[in-house]
Amino acid sequence: MIVTDSEQSAAKICADWRAEGLSIGFVPTMGALHRGHESLVELASSSSDRVVVSIFVNPSQFGPSEDLDSYPRTLEEDCNKVRELGASLVFAPKADAVYSSGFSTGVSVSNVSDGLCGAFRRGHFDGVTTVCAVLFGIVRPDRAVFGMKDAQQVAVIKRMVSDLRLGIEIIAAPIVRESDGLALSSRNQYLSFEERQQASTISTALRNASDLALSGEKSCKVIKNAFLVALEHSDLLRVQYVETVDPDTMIGVETTEKRVLLAVAVFAGKTRLIDNILIESEV
Ligand code: AMP
Repeated sequence: MIVTDSEQSAAKICADWRAEGLSIGFVPTMGALHRGHESLVELASSSSDRVVVSIFVNPSQFGPSEDLDSYPRTLEEDCNKVRELGASLVFAPKADAVYSSGFSTGVSVSNVSDGLCGAFRRGHFDGVTTVCAVLFGIVRPDRAVFGMKDAQQVAVIKRMVSDLRLGIEIIAAPIVRESDGLALSSRNQYLSFEERQQASTISTALRNASDLALSGEKSCKVIKNAFLVALEHSDLLRVQYVETVDPDTMIGVETTEKRVLLAVAVFAGKTRLIDNILIESEV
């Protein structure tokens, strides 16, 4: 496995593979890799001849009061993990090389980026789409794998790839969870013992709210309320949003008659956690 911070080297390696007729699967990450990321690498490797993992804590997707400086950086361990899984290239560029002086382009996807996390993290998705467009341009993958943990990100990237005719297949991978249901996240390591204990309530509440829909409840208002009520006794948790949306457009929906994504953002102390569940009631 090759590790490089040079975009020229990364682009050349990928171009050589393409010239040999080898397909490329790409997994963009911010590092501090866990089993969630590993599942994406496995999925990429099952569908492609070569797997490229990028590790880049992208400054432009963090707000001014967010955790850019404290975000965990564990490059060596990350490389060991993806090497074991058969990745062929880790591309870990420096921020000033990605955004070299004169960089003037932003990719912005409207509508699908507007609600949910987009409403509370202004500019976040512009940072995500811009960096993904840059990384896609360097790697030029056949497919890229993203986790459903960030369901809105999946929808935004799909929209960008479709609108810009980038010709990259976007694969959405299922959420990997701890044994008590908490969705794995690099930010879980910020949690205190008590916050970590209460955080498992988020996935339990999502599952119970989804079960309510599966047993016949059609009103999204009732389902969202069930989620809120389930968190009422967790004094360290504060709900930022709970929404029911169409999983492709992220437009709000009122009934569970079609596929509905129940998506939430919850603060556990100062740490912002997101999670979601897809509800597919029988019509
Ligand atoms: P990040 O490093 O947080 O930018 O995440 C990189 C990729 O890993 C994104 O596509 C995430 O959706 C995905 N990911 C993060 N956590 C999980 C998880 N628990 N299960 C599946 N995918 C995940």
